[in-house]
Amino acid sequence: VLSVRNVSKSFGGLKAVDDVSFDVHQGEILGLIGPNGSGKSTLFNCVLGQLPASTGTVLVDGQEVAGKRPCDLNKLGVGRTFQMLQVFPEMTVLDNIILAGQEHKGTMLSRLFGKADAGLTEEALRMIEFFRLGHQTHEKAGSLSYGQQKLLDAAMAFMAGPKLVMLDEPAGGVNLTMLADLKERLKAFNQERGATFVVIEHNMEFVMSLCTRIIVLANGRIIAEGDPETVRNDPTVIEAYLGG
Ligand code: ATP
Ligand code: MG
Repeated sequence: VLSVRNVSKSFGGLKAVDDVSFDVHQGEILGLIGPNGSGKSTLFNCVLGQLPASTGTVLVDGQEVAGKRPCDLNKLGVGRTFQMLQVFPEMTVLDNIILAGQEHKGTMLSRLFGKADAGLTEEALRMIEFFRLGHQTHEKAGSLSYGQQKLLDAAMAFMAGPKLVMLDEPAGGVNLTMLADLKERLKAFNQERGATFVVIEHNMEFVMSLCTRIIVLANGRIIAEGDPETVRNDPTVIEAYLGG
């Protein structure tokens, strides 16, 4: 689905991402972990066209996406979340999802006139049901708990997909009960809808039990890669976290 080849990104003298290559295969849930400042979010931004990479190439389904804008990637079925919540608190849950769908599908006309077509509304309602936010469909997003807002935020990214969804810290700040729910729903979305994920996460329990494979970044470079058990016991990984 996704192929990242020798991507580097410098900010002035700082190499935030340093010659990173990896592939993401259909149906995988790939975890991207690493200490603060190791380059995870920057790598996401380069892959998704939010930042131009200094060097390297990114392919989605074998198609080069350099120079493509995030909305072009949305049309290829690629969505993302940011580390910071992107929900509009004054809008209802339903309107947030519909707006995300309009953005992803580029239906500018309906966006301008503030009207969603019936198909999109139906899809949005299905998405809300899937993420068990149905009882809050018409509530303002800002009235939901933080964990529910994170779920809504993810659901908004899924309106682009479900080919490839890139989640930047979906579990950040989410309490324990909501965490189990979030993990269960992400797994279900992966299995039932065939969505492929890349997940940045600091919560080790969460990432180890969610992901099929894990890549570890430190100082912008991949220092380890493998199944969760291998990565968990890798001394270089432990050292990177202690040192970082
Ligand atoms: P965290 O886990 O804290 O979110 P991260 O792995 O996502 O960290 P990045 O946000 O990608 O790390 O940052 C990598 C490095 O690049 C850091 O040293 C950061 O200060 C630097 N950096 C990120 N964005 C910019 C920018 N726009 N301008 C200059 N430096 C930046
Ligand atoms: Mg980050």
